Order: sequence, then structure tokens, then C-alpha cells
Amino acid sequence: MSDFDFTTSEIPELAEGELLLRTHYVSVDPYLRGRMSDAPSYVPPFELNKPLKSGIVAEVMDSKNEKFSKGDYVTGELAWKEVQVAKADGLMKVDGEKAPFSAYLGILGMTGLTAYLGLTEIGKPKAGETLVVSGAAGAVGTVVGQIGKLMGLYVVGIAGTDEKVEMLKSEFGFDEGINYNTTENMTKAIAKACPKGVDIYFDNVGGEISDAVLFNINKFSRTINCGAIAVYNNTEAPKSISVQPFLVKKSSLMQGFIVTDFADQYPAGIKQLSEWLQDGKLKYTETVREGFDNIPQAFLDLFEGKNKGKMIVKL
Ligand code: NDP
Repeated sequence: MSDFDFTTSEIPELAEGELLLRTHYVSVDPYLRGRMSDAPSYVPPFELNKPLKSGIVAEVMDSKNEKFSKGDYVTGELAWKEVQVAKADGLMKVDGEKAPFSAYLGILGMTGLTAYLGLTEIGKPKAGETLVVSGAAGAVGTVVGQIGKLMGLYVVGIAGTDEKVEMLKSEFGFDEGINYNTTENMTKAIAKACPKGVDIYFDNVGGEISDAVLFNINKFSRTINCGAIAVYNNTEAPKSISVQPFLVKKSSLMQGFIVTDFADQYPAGIKQLSEWLQDGKLKYTETVREGFDNIPQAFLDLFEGKNKGKMIVKL
């Protein structure tokens, strides 16, 4: 917490094309951790002493842009500010009648698209196959598992508490679940939970959990490297096993991706996710914290597994 600071500043006058916005919902996400370092990455790092940014839903208080009117709600990457003046580029109107505003930061936003596009584009699921999902009880994982079930897969989720494992099975339809914090031998536990081996691994965490999955992959299996939260805070290089022999022996594919790789498929992805949501085929859960002052703690709590589903801060 000591790395965060709260400041106040004057709200500038609106220039032509700009919007005055009041923040209502803030998304906190593990990937933001990567921007808190100047290591080379796919997005530029945050700048010291400038506000952090993430996905936000905000209300238009005033507009000097003909495409937006006072009272509209918009979403996009915005600064962690209660009120801000922003350019309208990259902002999209959202409709609170169609779905709760917070859903546009989760199931109908970046994390929902990550789940859907990662699983379908790289995982290429075929009915009857076995899918393992790590970080299964989070924003991306809960959606991956449900889509897996919709596509006829046998789905096993890995999460950090018994309560989360129970939730995956009873609320989200996973076939099996493993609590990695209470399981001594993950390799054996995965083998037991996946009697036919692992065809698709949706990897949200990396590290030792993912090493254990490797021992159970099938011939022609696919690993979707979505995230590696287990190592985001490492200050030294992690001691991982060498993946190459496993991939060679099993003719297996391992592919990293960033959801923006599939940006041209966002409209189709959102359409599909919305339809499933409206038909009751997809569900979602959120952990909602209240108040601007609680944004940093909500972010830090992701690394302690204190969220179920999407972590959101409501102002
Ligand atoms: P989550 O909602 O899943 O929240 C993070 C979860 O990670 C926690 O709830 C916790 O659950 C788990 N976790 C925390 N520390 C560890 C650890 N050391 N080992 C194992 N699990 C841990 O986050 P998201 O769904 O938003 O993101 C999931 C992953 O996907 C992240 O790695 C993120 O960076 C990545 N991502 C990648 C994208 C891409 O384009 N490639 C886009 C969006 C997200 P538990 O209690 O189970 O430990």
C-alpha cells in the first residue's frame, strides 16, 4: 500500500472533442502488475507519479464531442480518478438496460473476451476432450470453464480454496476441482481428476501448478498461456522445469496470447457472450469493493486470491 498515493488536482476546462467523466466502476486486474515495471512488454509501463489506468465505466457529466451526450455511460481505459477530462477516442457507449454496467468490465469486456477467444482460437476444443483451467475461480477462469462445458468438454478447475472449488462445481458446472493450497502432489491430483489426460490447458497462473499439468498432457494437446500470476511478483527468475521434452514427446502446442491479438473478433465475441448470458447459459460472479480509496487494496487482494470472479470497485 505504501507504493500508492492519493492526490487532488483542479479539473481542467473541456477542450473541443473532450468529455467530463465521473467514474462509477473500476476494474482491477492482475495484468496491471506488468505495467508497474519497466521491463519490455506489449504495453508501455505506468509512469511514476501519474495516475494508474484500467478499464472503467464512467458517466458523461459534460461533453464537447458530438458523439457523446451528458448522461451517457462509457467504458474504456481511463485514469484512476473520481472525475476526469478525457479524449473520447477509444471510449465506447454502454447500455445499462442490456446488462449491469459492471458486466462491461468482466464477462462482456476484456476478461470475457480473453476467456472466449483464448479457448476457441488457440484451444480449438472438440467435444469429449478434457480441459484444465488454472486460476479457475477468477474472472477469466470461471468463463473459460463454462464455455468449455457449453462446447462439450470435461472440465477441471484449479483454485486456491475449498469454497472456490465447491463454487466451480455447484455454480459453474465444472466436473472436478482441485485446491492447490491443500494438495500435496498436484501431478497425481491432476491425473486422478483427468482419467483421460489433459487435452487443453488454459493457463492463468504459470509456475509449479502449470509444471504439474505438463506431466499429464495428451498427444496433440494445446496449452493456452493466458497469464502467469504465480510469478508476477517474482524478483528472481523462477525455477521452472524445462517444457521442451514434454512438448516434443506429446506433439503438443503451447501458445501465449494477448487478447488484443484477436481485436478484429471482439464484436463477434461480445455478441456470442451476450447471447449466452441472455439465454442463461453463462453466469458470472463479482467481488465488489466500495469506494475510491479502496482501489489499491482491491488490486493487491488479487494476488492473495481474495476475489471470486471479477474484482470490481464501485464508487
Ligand atoms: P482473477 O480474477 O483470476 O484473479 C486472480 C486470481 O489468481 C486470484 O483470485 C487467485 O485465485 C489467483 N492467484 C493469485 N496468486 C496466485 C498464485 N501465486 N498461484 C496461483 N494462483 C494465484 O484474474 P483474471 O481472471 O483477471 O486474470 C487471470 C489471468 O489471466 C492473470 O494471470 C492475468 O494476468 C491473465 N490475463 C491475460 C490476458 C491476456 O490477454 N493474455 C487478459 C486478461 C487476463 P486463487 O484463490 O485460486 O489462488
